[in-house]
Amino acid sequence: MKILVINCGSSSLKYQLIDMAGESVIAKGLCERIGIEGSKLTHEPADQDKYVVENPMPDHTTAIQMVMDALQDKDHGVITSTDEITAIGHRVLHAGTVYSDSIIVNEDVKRVIKECFDLGPLHNPANLMGIEACEKAMPGKANVAVWDTGFGMKMPEKAYLYAIPYEYYEKYSIRRYGFHGTSHMFVSGEAIKFGGLDPEKAKVIVCHLGNGASVSASIGGKCVDTSMGLTPLEGLIMGTRSGDIDPAVVQFICNKEGKDVNEVLNILNKKSGVLGMSGGISSDFRDIENAKKEGNHLAAVAMDAFIYRVAKYIGAYTAAMNGVDAIAFTAGVGENDVAGRKAICEYLGYLGVKIDDEANNVRGKERVISAADSKVKVMLIPTNEELAIARETKALIQ
Ligand code: ADP
Repeated sequence: MKILVINCGSSSLKYQLIDMAGESVIAKGLCERIGIEGSKLTHEPADQDKYVVENPMPDHTTAIQMVMDALQDKDHGVITSTDEITAIGHRVLHAGTVYSDSIIVNEDVKRVIKECFDLGPLHNPANLMGIEACEKAMPGKANVAVWDTGFGMKMPEKAYLYAIPYEYYEKYSIRRYGFHGTSHMFVSGEAIKFGGLDPEKAKVIVCHLGNGASVSASIGGKCVDTSMGLTPLEGLIMGTRSGDIDPAVVQFICNKEGKDVNEVLNILNKKSGVLGMSGGISSDFRDIENAKKEGNHLAAVAMDAFIYRVAKYIGAYTAAMNGVDAIAFTAGVGENDVAGRKAICEYLGYLGVKIDDEANNVRGKERVISAADSKVKVMLIPTNEELAIARETKALIQ
């Protein structure tokens, strides 16, 4: 069975064709600059050279058609007909409070995606365009929506409700949703399997540390709490996002700088995080680490603050679950930053966490990085959102 996984952004489209027999990637690729001049498709069949097509892509429908052509190309293709594709799995950002489980797309699902445009203004319209483009290109095939908010939707009320007038939840569905749900679901599941933990009871904390970063706590794979909120702005310090902040700061900056709320929110989303804290060095954690090594004080503080915030969330989530069996690191920073993982774990001695430096000296590979006598298993689990989406799709259509 071959499943096509689609992840649409407003001007981009990532895809992977996955053979579910061995869960191997047959081909993957990226359409860039959809709707903008200079559109380009980069197609990467497994074990073959990249194939680049530079053709105008005025919309997502054209992009999907180009993906279909590349997949069936006589020199660079990997299938002879779209009949070989069993179903299509889509990453969809938001279903508001309506859906949490993945679902086969029908008219009602499309209506919900549309109704949630205001909750995911950048992603939901693009996600819907991707679905409709696939419906046109491959009529009759099942399209499955896998929600980025799905994992967080399982949190209890005490974790998802904000302490603001309840009417705002009733009227506008304002609550904590959490994002990176597919990654948290995948990594917590893999941590349970790889760590040999009890699938019903395991208490797992996943640290998804990339440019966007979030932490989740789950018991037996069911989310108990997660750090992102109504939007991805809440929680950890990220590449460009501030994470948790006193909301009064917004008003204060508005008054002092003569800006409106939208401008300040833009600053909190795009100019803050380690980029802002370091005085503008970079949003890339490698640059921050290099600047820190060269003795830059602000870079050092930004990195320390990032690590400190992760450690505080781990402490809070351990309390929320009354214990923790495993902590898993994933995403760009979590999978590659050996020193960062160690620095976070150094805060956790009180939990009996002990890192094995040799085991921790690894990048991008599934591995237990804690010492044999560590009271909590610490693991590196590379995330694979595409595979998670393909698995969800397969499960639904069978
Ligand atoms: P996103 O998907 O949110 O864009 P990724 O999960 O791809 O983010 O992570 C990107 C981040 O990972 C970048 O900030 C990059 O600097 C960081 N990263 C990659 N390799 C390393 C490394 N060796 N040390 C520290 N950070 C790293």
